[in-house]
Amino acid sequence: MALATPYTEKTDEQKAISEMVRQFADEQIIPQAEHYDHEDSFPEPIVEQMKELGLFGVTIPEEYGGMGLDLTTYAMIVEELSRGWISISGIVNTHFIGSYLLMKFGTDAQKQKYLPRMATGEIRAAFSLSEPELGSDVAAIKTAARKVDDEHYEINGTKMWVTNGLLSGLVFVLVRTDPAADPRHRGLTCFIAEKEPGVAENTGDYQGFKIPPKIKKLGYKGVESTELVFDGYSCPAENILGGEPAGLNKGFAQMMDALELGRVNVAARGVGIAQRALELALRYAQQRRTFGKPIAEHQAIQFKLADMATQVEAARLLTLRAARLKDAGERSDIEAGMAKLFASEAGRFCVEESLRIHGGYGYSKEYEIERLYRDAPLLLIGEGTSEIQRMVIGRKLLQRHRL
Ligand SMILES: Cc1cc2nc3c(=O)[nH]c(=O)nc-3n(C[C@H](O)[C@H](O)[C@H](O)COP(=O)(O)OP(=O)(O)OC[C@H]3O[C@@H](n4cnc5c(N)ncnc54)[C@H](O)[C@@H]3O)c2cc1C
Repeated sequence: MALATPYTEKTDEQKAISEMVRQFADEQIIPQAEHYDHEDSFPEPIVEQMKELGLFGVTIPEEYGGMGLDLTTYAMIVEELSRGWISISGIVNTHFIGSYLLMKFGTDAQKQKYLPRMATGEIRAAFSLSEPELGSDVAAIKTAARKVDDEHYEINGTKMWVTNGLLSGLVFVLVRTDPAADPRHRGLTCFIAEKEPGVAENTGDYQGFKIPPKIKKLGYKGVESTELVFDGYSCPAENILGGEPAGLNKGFAQMMDALELGRVNVAARGVGIAQRALELALRYAQQRRTFGKPIAEHQAIQFKLADMATQVEAARLLTLRAARLKDAGERSDIEAGMAKLFASEAGRFCVEESLRIHGGYGYSKEYEIERLYRDAPLLLIGEGTSEIQRMVIGRKLLQRHRL
């Protein structure tokens, strides 16, 4: 009897790309992550090499200078980058969501204008939903855009937790354009807000766009998370995603579509960090001796390794399944939610088990697992918390199986 193709099976191209990124992570990311994590500084030399490898244009079509690869291959790349350091994948991830939004909803002019420079990494993208008073409840967005003349909107308000907030040149920002909309989510629009990368107080065309100092965090260092302050920022109407007639008040659905993809993305990051935690545990357990033998020979430690390896494998299967469904144009909302929920929790679980296996040394900054332990919780929060994933999965399950 023929076996179904396993989800983990890779094409020759996927194998070659995964191996290339794994080697890049082993040689360029892992040896340097501790330095950039400790300094909380942006890993510019690593990012420059990523540009050369074409990693900012993985999913952008070849006609715009990208590689034109699918979500499944992208998820494999993200797993490898995150195995190295999740901050590195964070620099690519919001960019990937921005390019997806443009590819799916952008006008031809918007695609022509931005995608070629995004494919090379010359400009990088951030995406911004959250605000100081809201994260899960996206429909409550208060930052507002008001039409001031035929061709311009003025944006006012504060955004929160924007990954790549300072160094990006484009922000896909969801704001309120219809204060009276009922339901609330029908009054939101996605603007492509341009700014000067690396400039805290923009001037000239980008006046009124300020980026306060980066937020100090537990982990996920190196990549900046910032607020964005819009104070009379003028944005051309043509920068509404999809153009004004098609895109006005359609931003919520566009962003939710992108978040489905984003969930596969975060799931792949969970697999990567869990995989690395397992590798570190396997190595340490065979080196450290107690009671006259390597700790790996104690059954209690073997059980931990077994549970970790099982979680990694299951997380990878769920992630690739959700990616393959999306690539095939099939419905994947439940699957993407499950993958994100399971893989991010697997990341947290495996990192903690690995830390326990490292004993006291796991608590020391000399061991890589200490960084992973601080990095992993982010995955439980970004692109919808575990509670929100359960809500989405539960609601969609009932929709699919309504009596
Ligand atoms: C490092 C970092 C980077 C980020 N990057 C970005 C980014 O680039 N762009 C962006 O837009 N956002 C970003 N975020 C924000 C992130 O998406 C939000 O933090 C997340 O969605 C949760 O929102 P919140 O923090 O406002 O928590 P809240 O929504 O206030 O939730 C607080 C708690 O209540 C729970 N909860 C909320 N509602 C319910 C409910 N109905 N039922 C049960 N439990 C509920 C939540 O699960 C959570 O445990 C980032 C966050 C971090 C920490």
